[in-house]
Amino acid sequence: MNLSLPLRELDGVGDKIDEALARASLRTVKDLVHYLPRTYDDYSHPSTIQDLKPGKVTIIAQAESIETRPVRRGMRITTAVLTDGTSKLKAVWFNQPYRATQLKPGERYMFSGTFEFSYNRYQLTNPSVEQAKKLEHEAGAEIVPVYRSIKGVKPQLLRKLVASLRPTITMLGETLPDSIVSSHELMSNAQAHVALHFPESQEHIARAKERVGFEELFELLLASALNKQANSRLEGWGIAFDKDAARGFVSRLPFALTGAQRQAAWQIIQDFESRIPMNRLLQGDVGSGKTVVAGMAANQAAQQGYQSAFMAPTEILASQHAETLSQLLTPFGIHVGLLTGSVKGAARATLLQRIASGDVQVIVGTHALIQKKVEYHKLGFVVIDEQHRFGVAQRQALLDKSERMPHLLAMTATPIPRSLALTVYGELDVSVLDELPAGRKPIETKIWAPTNTELLYAQVDSELTKGRQAYIICSLIDDNPENDVKSVEAEYKKLKSTVFTHRRVGLLHGKLTPAEKENVMQEFADGSLDILVSTTVVEVGVDVPNATVMIIENADRFGLSQLHQLRGRVGRSSHQSYCYLVVSDSSKPSARLKEIEKSQDGFYLAEVDLRLRGPGEVYGRAQHGALNLQVANLGDAKLISRVQKAAQDFLASGQDLLQYKQLAAQVEKNQRLTTLN
Ligand code: ADP
Ligand code: MG
Repeated sequence: MNLSLPLRELDGVGDKIDEALARASLRTVKDLVHYLPRTYDDYSHPSTIQDLKPGKVTIIAQAESIETRPVRRGMRITTAVLTDGTSKLKAVWFNQPYRATQLKPGERYMFSGTFEFSYNRYQLTNPSVEQAKKLEHEAGAEIVPVYRSIKGVKPQLLRKLVASLRPTITMLGETLPDSIVSSHELMSNAQAHVALHFPESQEHIARAKERVGFEELFELLLASALNKQANSRLEGWGIAFDKDAARGFVSRLPFALTGAQRQAAWQIIQDFESRIPMNRLLQGDVGSGKTVVAGMAANQAAQQGYQSAFMAPTEILASQHAETLSQLLTPFGIHVGLLTGSVKGAARATLLQRIASGDVQVIVGTHALIQKKVEYHKLGFVVIDEQHRFGVAQRQALLDKSERMPHLLAMTATPIPRSLALTVYGELDVSVLDELPAGRKPIETKIWAPTNTELLYAQVDSELTKGRQAYIICSLIDDNPENDVKSVEAEYKKLKSTVFTHRRVGLLHGKLTPAEKENVMQEFADGSLDILVSTTVVEVGVDVPNATVMIIENADRFGLSQLHQLRGRVGRSSHQSYCYLVVSDSSKPSARLKEIEKSQDGFYLAEVDLRLRGPGEVYGRAQHGALNLQVANLGDAKLISRVQKAAQDFLASGQDLLQYKQLAAQVEKNQRLTTLN
């Protein structure tokens, strides 16, 4: 059967079913072949009722005295007594009244569900049901695939449709190079898909998942490796090391660089000397001092006649960076310019002209730096701070602005577990700032019940009395940013007019104009505000060292990495800092939240987050979705390093990727998006 055959052509698919399938993006035979089960119901090892142990169980039994009754509004309970000759057991279903008609007296069924203690007795909760007779007839059907449900298509029909494709699946062509399949002892593409759709044993499924996961990772890692290769073929600028400039820069700093900062700066300066453009990630926990490292490199570039562009995700951050960099670099005769959407009219025209002539050597701004009609004189170095995506398209835009490919430094405070970094950042060299500047004290972090706010505000006020400043972060009532703004405004009014009438309180959220935002931020930075009530727009990068206390409302609604980022706005000086995590209700705080109370280590917290919430939640659904991983587990470091070696071996073997059509297409897609944050 042709893989591109529309599903409409299959027996059992009428217009209605066809439309329902299309809504789930299933249009052709190929789509359905690759629609892999979400999980499996395992009927292969049934127990007898008398031998059951609590947990997930499967039994073969008949059902008696089935009844459905409403318990409260919108909730109906169906119960049945199950017997298998050894004993009896109550089964309970919530909101599945059709069970009453499905279960025929005298018939034997397989029930698979959770055997648990509830209301003083053991019961089987929400078991799935299969006819025992049917399972016994179909060889190898004791493990039943469970597909993600599709509205308007019954699970039985979906399974029937897939079953009708079995001959096609058995004949699927190989998609990986044969050399890899054999040297890594993988199932063939066809074997793996047969195993996933028509499993014979758990072991069979595991082997199939290994094969499919391997392939998904191979597509990703090969894309990274090819990007790296392509980068190394580009012509870049060799920027000579200027020893005096480096000495001068370090000696004028008000502090000594940490060892990690010195090493990162050294790595960058060495990359500069090469004609191969640098493509480096500077990863450092919040407050580890990334900006000064980039500033030191920009000084090197400027002394050799090259311009640097410094890109930040928000205008607030851009203007803060412009301020920091001009303090660092003006003493060396370097002109720093700030280019954002708010710079308009004659001022903009003048600035653009000065950038084009090379009079401004360091240009700080938002994305506008590469998107709009900005012409550079000689762009040698590009820094991307806290950016979410910088892929092939953006790199091309940079090349268009510069005769040669500038050296590229991406900076991020999002700690990425090593396994994940290898897959999504495979093409980048990495420098890590794993050391905080000397004298920093751990931020005292406390989970706070929503009651007892008086004491909480008193704690904040005592810090203000000492001359320190405070952030109050409140948002995330639900997923609607409009409501977040409402809540932050309400909180601001309340605090200003009741608890903190004697303090200067400011308000910051995403709906303010850029000029308003900058104003408020500036006031907070120079100390004319005591308290900043804000949404999470302060999350990345903002640096006000005098702020030592933060309250985060509804803290349980945030991910650990995000809380860690937010908390990183305090603890930026040698003063003791405090962070209060106010939970949404008074019930016991989650284990997840307790982790952040205990730990200040962004990498550790990211690992915990990854384990507890999965990569989709941690790195954004859309971004994780773009990675196209159905099966591969990004936590599986062993598999990842195996696959990485396979990708390198494949490249070294000199085989032509284009002879593997499907692989080549997926790799090409991945090459466009491997730089994720
Ligand atoms: P991040 O890595 O989070 O971007 P920043 O670059 O904003 O951190 O630096 C945080 C603060 O630490 C800034 O106020 C900066 O001036 C200061 N800082 C950076 N390096 C050092 C150092 N080696 N010693 C002391 N303070 C430092
Ligand atoms: Mg920063």
